[in-house]
This record gives sequence, structure tokens and C-alpha cells, in this order.
Amino acid sequence: MLPINSNLKNKVAVVTGGGGVLCGAMSIELARHGMKVAILNRTYEKAEKVANAIKEQGGEALAIACDVLDRDAVIAAEEKVFQTYGACDILINGAGGNHPDGSTAGEKFNKEEVDDPSIRTFFDMTTEGFSSVFNLNFIGTLIPTQIFARRMVERKTTVINISSMSAPSPMTKVPAYSAAKAAVNNFTQWLAVHMAEANVRVNAIAPGFFLTDQNRSLLTNQDGSPTPRMQKIVDHTPMRRLGSPEDLLGTLLWLVDEEASGFVTGTCIPVDGGFMAYSGV
Ligand code: NAD
Repeated sequence: MLPINSNLKNKVAVVTGGGGVLCGAMSIELARHGMKVAILNRTYEKAEKVANAIKEQGGEALAIACDVLDRDAVIAAEEKVFQTYGACDILINGAGGNHPDGSTAGEKFNKEEVDDPSIRTFFDMTTEGFSSVFNLNFIGTLIPTQIFARRMVERKTTVINISSMSAPSPMTKVPAYSAAKAAVNNFTQWLAVHMAEANVRVNAIAPGFFLTDQNRSLLTNQDGSPTPRMQKIVDHTPMRRLGSPEDLLGTLLWLVDEEASGFVTGTCIPVDGGFMAYSGV
């Protein structure tokens, strides 16, 4: 367990997708350091579960049902956080994920698959399907940032975006997700420059591979055994394992602490067991 950082006490954190596996663990950790944590999640019950876990440990948490693509819902959530805890100090843009509508069934072009109408190939993806995944992962980062950052300026605050290994080098099958996460990295740099003199630092964390609800069906078979894709990931990870949510917490605590990372902005930190460094040869 990481030592308590008293610099974080009483700060206000907002975590979108905070009801999920990775950002749920982040929310619980920030609360353990004395932060007041607002958990925004499309499915309220998931946010509530994390908020209850925080309260059971004696921490402060507020669960809010909020779809990050619904501007009015995000405006209402910001107002609720402001009225309850005050202005946001740390925004974590964690809502994201994949969907078959933005994916191809196969990894590479395969003539037989193209001729089979039951298989979704690159040629069959719809604009709507692609957009839904792209928007969740990119526009779903943009909208909360626009809305929360208004009260974050000129107070030494921080935005943390959640990127992916698919940003620098796209994974097969998930073009919409990959394009969106690449956009998240680019936006992280853009916003870091734009906000530097307004005292808002903007960074990203790029997790390697973690087994969560969004990728369970891609990485495990119905009986829980690893798919060939999961095996490929482990083979390509020099540390030879998937990550666990706790692996992200040290990097998170460093990036949100003004004293530790006050001169760090516009970066994307991989937490990936060496995946990005390994050429595969
Ligand atoms: P998860 O599915 O457990 O969590 C995602 C959460 O976002 C869920 O609680 C979901 O209800 C919520 N959500 C989905 N759409 C939403 C919307 N429109 N508005 C508000 N909330 C919404 O997945 P996770 O793996 O914990 O993912 C967290 C983040 O980490 C995502 O951005 C994901 O892309 C990223 N990531 C995950 C991995 C991994 O291996 N799991 C790797 C790299 C990056």
C-alpha cells in the first residue's frame, strides 16, 4: 500500500467512468488520501457501489449518474459537485471502452471473410458504429474537460486523461478505439499548452493490458481460459503478465500532486510492463 500523501487532503476529484474497474480503483485510492471524490458514471449503480466502498472506509464520495456525451448532464453534474464539495481540483477522464460496432471481426484482410455477409469486416463498419466508439473515447473526454476546466483555471489543478497502448501503435480489430485514444494523446498535448499559463496541468496515463469488463470478451473464453489474443499480449509484455488496477496508482498519485509533478505537463505515461518498449524481436 502506498504511503498517505497529505498534500491531497480535502482536494476535490472528479472521475468519469469511476464506476469501472480501473477508475473505481483510482477513486478509492484518491479518497484514501483524503480527497473528496465525485464518481460520474453512465450506470448509476456502478458509481454508487464505488462511492459506498469509499464511505465504508470513512472517505467522502458522491455518486452521480452522468453520460459524458450528454453535455447537459455533465453541466448538471459539475454544478452538483460544485455545490457539494466546491470546484474540481483533479479531473480524471476515464469513461471509455470498446464495442463490436467500432471493431472488425478479423485481425487482417481475409478474402473469405469479405465474401461472408455474417462477418463484420472493415468494409461493413458503419459510420454510426465507428462514431459511437470514437465519440465515447474522445468526445467523452472533451466535453467533461470543457465543462469542469472552467472552474479549474488559475488554481494549480490537473486533468488526467486515460489513454491506451492503442494510441501510439493501433491494436488490430479496434480502429475506432485506437483513433480515439490517439486523439486523446494529441488533445492532452494541445490542452497542456493551451492551459499552461492558466495553471492547469494536463497529462495522460496509458495503461497496458488489464482484464476488465470492456475487454473480457476479447481476452477470455466463456470458461475463463485465455484467448489467443490474450496470449499474444502476455507474450508481447516483457514483464509477462497483465496489469492489475493497483499498478496504476503510483503514477496517478505522482501526476496529481503539484509538489511531485508541478513541472510535468503534456505527457502520456505508459504503465504497461514494458509493452510499448518491446519491438517483438
Ligand atoms: P470499465 O468498463 O470497467 O470502465 C469504464 C466505465 O465507464 C464503466 O463503469 C462504464 O459504465 C463507464 N462508461 C461507459 N460509457 C460511459 C459514458 N458514456 N458516460 C459515463 N460513463 C461511461 O473499463 P476499464 O478497463 O476500467 O476502463 C477505464 C479506462 O481505461 C477507459 O478509458 C479504457 O479505455 C482505458 N483503458 C483500459 C485498458 C484495459 O486493459 N482495461 C487499457 C488501456 C486503457
